[in-house]
Parts: sequence; C-alpha cells; structure tokens
Amino acid sequence: MLKYDLCIIGGGPAGMMAALRASERGKSVVLIEKNKELGLKLFLTGGGRCNLTHAGLNKKDFALKFGKQGDFLLSPLSIFGVEETIDFFNKKGLPLKIEADGKVYPKSEKSKDVLDFFKTELKKNKVKILTGNRVVNFTFKDGKIEKVILDDEKQIFADNFLIATGGKSYPQTGSTGNGYNFAKRAGHSVTELKPALSPVETKEKWVSILKGISLEKVGVSLNQQKPIIGDVLFTHFGLSGPIILNLSEKINTKDELVIDLFPKKNIDELEKKLITLFDKEPKKTVFNVLGGIVPPKLLAILLNFSNVKKDEICRNIIKEERKKIVKNLKNIKFIVIGVLGFEKAMVTKGGISLKEIDSRKMRSKIIDNLYFAGEVIDLNGESGGFNLQMCFTTGYVVAESI
Ligand SMILES: Cc1cc2nc3c(=O)[nH]c(=O)nc-3n(C[C@H](O)[C@H](O)[C@H](O)COP(=O)(O)OP(=O)(O)OC[C@H]3O[C@@H](n4cnc5c(N)ncnc54)[C@H](O)[C@@H]3O)c2cc1C
Repeated sequence: MLKYDLCIIGGGPAGMMAALRASERGKSVVLIEKNKELGLKLFLTGGGRCNLTHAGLNKKDFALKFGKQGDFLLSPLSIFGVEETIDFFNKKGLPLKIEADGKVYPKSEKSKDVLDFFKTELKKNKVKILTGNRVVNFTFKDGKIEKVILDDEKQIFADNFLIATGGKSYPQTGSTGNGYNFAKRAGHSVTELKPALSPVETKEKWVSILKGISLEKVGVSLNQQKPIIGDVLFTHFGLSGPIILNLSEKINTKDELVIDLFPKKNIDELEKKLITLFDKEPKKTVFNVLGGIVPPKLLAILLNFSNVKKDEICRNIIKEERKKIVKNLKNIKFIVIGVLGFEKAMVTKGGISLKEIDSRKMRSKIIDNLYFAGEVIDLNGESGGFNLQMCFTTGYVVAESI
C-alpha cells in the first residue's frame, strides 16, 4: 500500500508552498486539487500581477495587518517571514520587485509566472499531483487521520494531512468552503464566516463610465470620519481598490463615502493651483487644462456637476464656477447600496479557530497528524500582499513541521 509522508488537500498558494518545501526536504507528497488546474485564485491575484507579499514592515507591524488575530502569525513569521519568502523566490529563479509602497510582485508582473514557477518546482521535486480530484471524506484510525477519500472513490493514505482548501470567497475558483466541514469533522470549531476585502456598490450609476480607472493617493472618508489616503478603483457597479477593500468590513448600506482628489491641499490651496493653471493657459479649454491633473472621464463628470461646460476657455471661468470646481474635486460623494458578498470578496473573515492550532507547527491541537494552512484558518489581512504571505508562511511552516 502506497503511503505518503504528506497528503495536501487544496492546490492554492498555501498547499503548493507546503508541497514544494516538504518535497524539498525529501518527503513524499501528494497534492490533491479539485479543479483541473492548480492555483486558479492565485492566477487572478493582484489584477493578474500577483502582489505576493509586502516588504518594509517588521514582524509585529506585519502581523498587525491581520487585526487582533495577527499575534498568531508572529511565530510562523519568525520561521518563514517576508525576507525569507523574497529570498526563496529570487534564489529559485522567480525574480521579484519591490514597489515604493512596499508591495512585492514578480518582476514580470505576471501571476502566471508565479503559478508556472510552482508547477515546475513541484514537478522537479516529484510531488504527486492529482488535479480534477475532490476530497470528499476522510477516515480515522487510532485517533489520527488514516486516509482521504476522493470523489472517484480512490483512497489516499498518508502519515500527515494538510487542509489548505481556502475560504469561501470567489467560490468560482474552487474555494467553496468544504475545508471547514473537514475541520469540524475532526473536532475543530469554525468561527463566524464573513466576506472581507469586498468592493462596494454605489447608488451613483455614473461610476460605470469610469470602470477600470484608478485614482492614486486620494483621500477617502467614510461617514465624514478622518480621510484615509490611498488608491481607489472604479468598477462598473461602484468602488474597489485598496482603501475601499480595507474599509469594507466597516461599511454598511446607506453609508456615505467621500473622495478627495487632492487630500494634501486645502480648499484655498487648490483654488490657488487652479488660478495658476488657468492664468498660464488662458485660451485653452478648462477640460484641456485640468485634464492634466484629473482623469479626463472623471473630469467631464465633475465639470458637469459644477455646471461648467467642457469647452469653456479658462479665461472665461468666473470665480463662482472655479469655487464649484474646487468643491467637486475635493468632495465626490457616494452613497453605498451594499458591500458585495462572498462572490466578489477577496478573502474570508473567520475560519478554523486559531485556539485549536499550534502556531509553531501549524498543527491541530486535537488530531496529531492534521495541519492547516492559508485562508481556511481564522486569519484575514489587509489588501497589499499580506494574505498571500500568510499562505506562504503557514504552508512553509507545515512543511518544516512534519
Ligand atoms: C480577485 C482576487 C485577487 C487577489 N489578489 C491578491 C493579491 O494580489 N495579494 C494577496 O496577498 N492576496 C490576494 N488575494 C487573496 C489570495 O488570493 C488568497 O488569500 C489565497 O489565494 C488563499 O490561498 P489558499 O491556498 O489558502 O486558498 P485558495 O487559493 O482558495 O486555494 C484552495 C484550493 O483548494 C481547492 N479545494 C477546495 N476544496 C477541495 C477539496 N475538497 N478537494 C480538493 N481540492 C479542494 C480549491 O479548488 C482551491 O484551488 C486575492 C483574492 C482574489 C479573489
């Protein structure tokens, strides 16, 4: 009877990292993925660019990006943290680049290259990959997991088992939440599950014209609270992008979001800037001149709000019109219709309770030969590469522990 050292359920970033490291350590590994391909969600990450980690923070500050639960990560991060991860990929032939805001991407900016990297390395290390195979059940023997059973009734025996089945968000990529049931069957508790890092739908339907346009370093305030500076992305139904995603847990239906395109300038300073620009090019149209500092499609909408014609020449703009333009540049209002659910959420909040997992080994405190990694556990971080790093870290720690 063939018996593997490690049987991994789920071929996402957490499962693949565990498979790669365990096989590197000479362990025999089987990786079971129900989709026909590994890493469908990984392929979609970072808008196809794959923001695979976040550099420049110490362990404590990195962990804080996961809120109150973050402390759990301190021990795994000290085994395989951000620096080790960057080194790992660079040394093995996947060159990375660190952007000014700390986000780390493959140099090629292609998530496919990250996926191909894993596929090549797993093949090189002779990991047995079973794609198009869903784990449907498992059996116990002497208080340990003995084997998993696949949808085609095949049985896979192993000394150790890893649940890396992801969360419930973006279920079309395979993460439909069945790992939670496996964990429950093994005696684990699962905390309340909610969508997190979700885009919002707005009452303002004109946003659809701006679909795909992103605004960098703008101010966003929720219900007139202190603005947060960062990037926003327009979608066909509303708003997304890092600030909106990070705020989404706090946003409710009917809330007000206000975007300030020039958060570093107060109203007077912005008005002075406009006066200077208009004085410099008095014969050009207002649309032409302001088109240099505001995305043109958004500018057209804001000029309309200000009752100023696009083709009005700068010399003819009167003070009241200028003041209206300034007000609209600093105060673009949106009313939230709803925060999108699991279908469109980037990650799942909640999961297998951290109290029942030994963070130094990512091992179950209930079943000796059961391990967990990735989004299936009760950890979700901010947008910016934190979630993938958590997957790589926890997957690696499992591989080191068996
Ligand atoms: C659109 C989008 C963009 C994102 N961008 C980023 C980003 O740039 N940076 C970042 O840090 N995070 C990003 N994330 C989040 C990140 O993708 C997830 O945190 C990460 O993929 C979770 O990895 P995982 O291995 O835990 O689970 P998953 O990637 O969900 O993989 C789990 C796998 O398990 C398989 N599976 C489930 N049940 C079974 C079963 N019973 N039998 C066999 N196989 C099973 C699934 O098919 C799936 O392939 C993004 C998420 C989305 C949706």
